[in-house]
Amino acid sequence: MSGNITLTMIKPDAVKNNYIGAILAKINEAGFKIKAMKYTKLSVEQAREFYAVHKDRPFYNDLVEFMTSGPIVAAILEKENAVEDFRKLIGATNPADAEEGTIRKLYAESMQNNAVHGSDSDENANIEANFHFSKTERF
Ligand code: GDP
Repeated sequence: MSGNITLTMIKPDAVKNNYIGAILAKINEAGFKIKAMKYTKLSVEQAREFYAVHKDRPFYNDLVEFMTSGPIVAAILEKENAVEDFRKLIGATNPADAEEGTIRKLYAESMQNNAVHGSDSDENANIEANFHFSKTERF
């Protein structure tokens, strides 16, 4: 199944704005199957680890603060070409640059508070799926 999964998080801004249902509907309409899902809140340690690749970027501390500011929904999504197709569905990192109809265009607040996460490679999809879910939590 490698290559067919991606990891998403509905971020604290979208949860706070009551967009969980609308975003999950978009995900299902686009043909993704939900293999695992949980409503949770990241600890500071978890957020720092998840975004460790950005630890030298000027926005790292703000990002960690934002990602721990409230609950998130994490999910493993399955579809052929999942990583690339999901990146298309969510749109550009900055919602101002995102295409019409994309999740970030519709539901994001800003470059940082951009509604959803999507893995950027098959390798990271597997690392991020393992970060959030054990084997017994996947269906
Ligand atoms: P993504 O793959 O589209 O999520 O983007 P990146 O991997 O480059 O960045 C990870 C996350 O960090 C983004 O989704 C944003 O939430 C946040 N981020 C990225 N760039 C910036 C920035 O310039 N400023 C701030 N405050 N946050 C940013």
